[in-house]
Amino acid sequence: MTGPTDTPSSAGAGAATAADEAMMRRALGLAELAATLGEVPVGAVVYRTADGTVLGEGFNRRETDNDPLGHAELIALSAAARAVGDWRLNDCTLVVTLEPCAMCAGAVVNARVGRLVFGARDPKAGACGSLMRLTEDARLNHRVTPVEGVLADACGDLLRTFFRSLRSGTGGV
Ligand SMILES: [Zn+2]
Repeated sequence: MTGPTDTPSSAGAGAATAADEAMMRRALGLAELAATLGEVPVGAVVYRTADGTVLGEGFNRRETDNDPLGHAELIALSAAARAVGDWRLNDCTLVVTLEPCAMCAGAVVNARVGRLVFGARDPKAGACGSLMRLTEDARLNHRVTPVEGVLADACGDLLRTFFRSLRSGTGGV
């Protein structure tokens, strides 16, 4: 059991690494898979920062599962925690194609995720720079400064293409 007496932990942003970019390509593949299911294309990967081992991954499954918690990040974080047998993911990096929302940013804090990397910004719901900076709030006992903009154009293009196809009524991508 941990509580507010924990020593605050935080991680600096630093720069994107080659592993981050490789994992973002993997997350993009997951996002493409989501699009084929009619899901908003967002993909996420959790890897062990030290050696690049993939511990969990996921894509948006909100429609498929009728689950408001079905965001790519939450699925990837749960899978990673099961894989390592620990809910604390300080040694891990979460890579996601889209800026996390408030729910997922909250999960990043609660899981003590060591590094957070995202691709495109989400001006409507992003909680890691757009609407707020939840993971950097000094009042919380874990903080992580996101590394953003990794393959941002590819991540954003996937979303734009998806929504354009919805508007034109052609269905999937
Ligand atoms: Zn989310």
